[in-house]
Amino acid sequence: MSQPDVPFPQSPVVPTMVDGDHTIQFSCHKGISCWNACCSNIDISLTPYDIVRLKKHLGISSTEFLRDYTVPYEMEKDGMAGVKLRPIENGTACRFMQPEGCGVYADRPTACRYYPVALLSMRRQDEYVDRQSYAIVKEDHCKGHEVARSISVDDYRKEQGLPEYDELARGWRQLVLKKKSSGPTIGTPSLKSRQLFFMASYDIDTFHSFVESEAFSRLFAMTDDERTLILADDVELLQFSFRFLRQVLFGEQSIALNEEAAKERLESWKARQIEIEREAAEKRAKLDEEMAREGFNEEDSGLGVCDDDGASCARD
Ligand code: SF4
Ligand code: SF4
Repeated sequence: MSQPDVPFPQSPVVPTMVDGDHTIQFSCHKGISCWNACCSNIDISLTPYDIVRLKKHLGISSTEFLRDYTVPYEMEKDGMAGVKLRPIENGTACRFMQPEGCGVYADRPTACRYYPVALLSMRRQDEYVDRQSYAIVKEDHCKGHEVARSISVDDYRKEQGLPEYDELARGWRQLVLKKKSSGPTIGTPSLKSRQLFFMASYDIDTFHSFVESEAFSRLFAMTDDERTLILADDVELLQFSFRFLRQVLFGEQSIALNEEAAKERLESWKARQIEIEREAAEKRAKLDEEMAREGFNEEDSGLGVCDDDGASCARD
């Protein structure tokens, strides 16, 4: 089963991009010859909301769910981690697959709901909103494409309960896209930031304890009523966790800090900026040194020479 959020970099299938009003021919139903084929070989990334639904369905904590049912993976190099459903021991099938179908059907993940449509979230660097587009994945084993039922992608999404899933994961997708498109301009996140990202994104029960803690109260100026409200409901808490992450990762302050903590944060942010600039200068010096060692200079580089401000360049 293909995953929805990642624009098919490793997939052997190259889907066509379409809009929501595009009509597909597809139906999946018990009794079809390929029943469960898609769940026998899984590669399913989970959103934070998927985890909230699944851990509730299984009656376990998010920490237990992450430990027993998922594997982490690198969403981007030296950056944020994602989590995927862990298949059965020594196999590729989903652990929730039953002869009669999905064992967690009412709370199945976003990727399973979307299939054979794939959601593509994109954001250009000069834009502040993400664009939603879709792709249709056609795999040989899936016979659902041969069933004569026509439906638009938008109606298929509604049928599969996806508007709610997409809405409740939107804040997280936006911050992941923003992080990916910011790239090196905000530097490599520290280990602490990466750990906070993992906890706030996926381990909602540990994040719950963190928001309840003394350490959190010392740092953030929230009233008891505000805190009680977000702690009463995992979905509210999840939306708060996305705001929290935007503040931690991008300095977008939407949660007021206590005065003393604000001063400390500012100092630490300044120190981090100095560190990023120092690392960049070191890398540049190392590169210059290597180039000098190789006897490589601007004149023989074929790139010509530019003014300091880059206003004019000339080649021999
Ligand atoms: S969660 Fe359900 S639908 Fe998704 S792969 Fe597993 S068994 Fe299939
Ligand atoms: S029709 Fe496609 S989605 Fe449905 S069971 Fe078969 S392989 Fe899976």
